[in-house]
Formats: sequence, C-alpha cells, structure tokens
Amino acid sequence: MDEKKGEMRPNHQPPPAAGGSSSSANRNRPRRRANLTLPLPQRDPSLAVPLPLPPTTNSAPSTASNVNATAHQVNFSELDRVNRIGRGTGGTVYKVVHRPSSRPYALKVIYGNHEESVRRQIRREIEILRDVDHPNVVKCHEMYDHNGEIQVLLEFMDGGSLEGTHISQESNLSDLARQILSGLSYLHRRHIVHRDIKPSNLLINSKKKVKIADFGVSRILDQTMDPCNSSVGTIAYMSPERINTDLNHGLYDGYAGDIWSLGVSILEFYLGRFPFAVGRQGDWASLMCAICMSQPPEAPPSASYEFRHFISCCLQREPARRWTAARLLQHPFIVRGQHQVAQNLHQLLPPPPLSS
Ligand code: ATP
Ligand code: MG
Repeated sequence: MDEKKGEMRPNHQPPPAAGGSSSSANRNRPRRRANLTLPLPQRDPSLAVPLPLPPTTNSAPSTASNVNATAHQVNFSELDRVNRIGRGTGGTVYKVVHRPSSRPYALKVIYGNHEESVRRQIRREIEILRDVDHPNVVKCHEMYDHNGEIQVLLEFMDGGSLEGTHISQESNLSDLARQILSGLSYLHRRHIVHRDIKPSNLLINSKKKVKIADFGVSRILDQTMDPCNSSVGTIAYMSPERINTDLNHGLYDGYAGDIWSLGVSILEFYLGRFPFAVGRQGDWASLMCAICMSQPPEAPPSASYEFRHFISCCLQREPARRWTAARLLQHPFIVRGQHQVAQNLHQLLPPPPLSS
C-alpha cells in the first residue's frame, strides 16, 4: 500500500436484508421534522442493550478504579504514559506501557468531568465493547473512572490512523476494504452500529492489519452536549438521511448509515481527497448542501468497472438500496482482490522442488 504513514451504538434491530426495507421500530417512529441545527439524531433509550450495570462499588469517583475486574485486568497504577499520539474532538489519546508486562496500549482520556448518570451510561457501553472481539476491530480492554474523568484502555495500533492516506492501487484498496467490511459485518451481526466510520477511526498496524476504532464513548458524550458545541464531530462522512432527518421519511437505519460512511472513506482513499465538491473541514452548511442536495460522488471512469460498481453500492442515496456489509464482502471488487493477493503470494513462494 502506498499509504501515508465509535463509537458504536447498541441496537436491538437486526441488520436489514440486502436491499430490504427499514426495521419495524423505525417504521413506527414518528416522522421527525427537518432539523437543521443538529446533525446527530437523539439517542433512543429503547435501543440500549439491557446489560446489568457494573457494580457501583467499582465506580467510586475518588480513586482510579477498573470497571468489572477480570482475570487479565490491567491496573491503572501500572500504566506509564509514554507520549501523546493524537487528539480528537472528544479526548486525547496517549501511548502507555503496562509496566509488569511491557505491553503497549493506547489510553483515551475523555475530556471533562462527567455526571454520574453519564458515567454509568459510558460504563454500560464499555461493557458491550469489552465483549467485542474481532481481528478487524480495535480491542477495548478497560475503562477507568479517575475522579470523574473517563479513561479507556485500547489496543495500540502502531501505524496510527488512515486519515490523509492515498491508495491508488485497486488491489491494495480491495484488501483494505475487505478488512474494514469484515469488522463491520461482525459488528452488524451483533446488532452494533458504529455511527462514526471515517478515515481517522480506521487504524493500521505494522502487520498491515486494519481495524475499526472509536465506539461508544464519544457519541454518548455528543448526546449530552449542546449540539451547537464545536466539539460535536464532523458530519462529512454522515449519510444524507442522517444529516437531514426529513429525507427518507424521517427514518434512520444505522447499518445503512455505516455503509455510506465506508463508501465515502474508501473513495477518499482512492482519490486522495474528500470526494465531495467541498472541503472535508468545510462549514456545516456547505457540507450539508454538498451531501444532501447533490448526487452521490462516483469513482472516476479511469477506475475499474468493479471498483466503480462497489462504490455505487455503498453510495446510494436511498438507504435501502445500499448493500449490507455481508453482501459487499461477496462483491467482485473484494473477491477479485482476494484472488490477486493469493496470486501475488504464490509468486513469492519458492518453486516446488523438482522430483528426481
Ligand atoms: P474525532 O474525535 O472527531 O473522532 P479522531 O478520531 O481523530 O477524531 P480520537 O479518536 O481521539 O480522535 O483519536 C485521535 C488520534 O489518536 C487518531 O486519529 C489516531 O491517530 C490516534 N489513535 C486513536 N486510537 C488509537 C489507538 N488505539 N492506537 C493508536 N493510535 C490511536
Ligand atoms: Mg477517533
């Protein structure tokens, strides 16, 4: 690859069938009016996974404490901060080392001190995330509640994020898309919607493994903050029907929303620039006009037919027409890429020994 070097939301509704209609819960939801000030839909409490909350004794606000101790728990006091590796709208990420094992981790420190109700909600999401285990999803190990400041211990990805990455070779892009789709299909099978797929939430390591990061915490915080607050993340990768809730009859299907965001990200990697006719960091109104009022972007004619078709399967304006993650894994662009990788590997292998 010539690359530079979530948050998730539990949802009881099963993923829609390929090209199928939205869930019945969505159908029953009252039509919402156009909401031009808030890009993020309200959290629907009925969609929360009814997991038991962790014992309240673990949430004592006065000391750093692990939530739900496990046999492999990493104690907060055993972590040494090495350096800051990134900063987002919701927090700062540090590389840390677990002293007893010398293992590196990423520690995400969420901005601000939060009320107990918010912390309880975050803990509940973290409990869901701790169960998530897939080679293409960043592992969430622990959550610490340090005097009301939330810190999340994550798998460390030594290659950082794919933000700003340009991948012009289709075979590399196919491999990348297959890895992201594997993670996304796993999450969707578990009825988890990510809601914030974008290049900065796709991380890579030196083994060229790509993983989906950032779920749970930041979106909960978004919902507790003033929507006009600049710390609400970008809408650049959000689907038209999520930005303008008047589209698609006010229905929002999070699974299809993730597929849109994936399509925009993959096309951005190919082009080496944000695919809409507006800057990715443009103001809200320009982004909203570009995303909601124009035709979805397409891959250029110079790209292969398979890639152009793949992108069009993700970037359908009508959410029900977007392919599911499971179906996209069977798309010729992905399948062809896998054959090419296998062929390349074959060429690298030494010739078989000649029989005497
Ligand atoms: P936003 O806050 O809008 O989601 P963001 O995704 O860039 O933006 P963070 O999630 O706080 O913000 O991450 C900041 C940066 O930290 C990432 O872009 C990435 O470079 C780095 N980072 C995050 N998580 C990890 C991790 N687990 N391993 C290595 N680096 C990470
Ligand atoms: Mg992030």
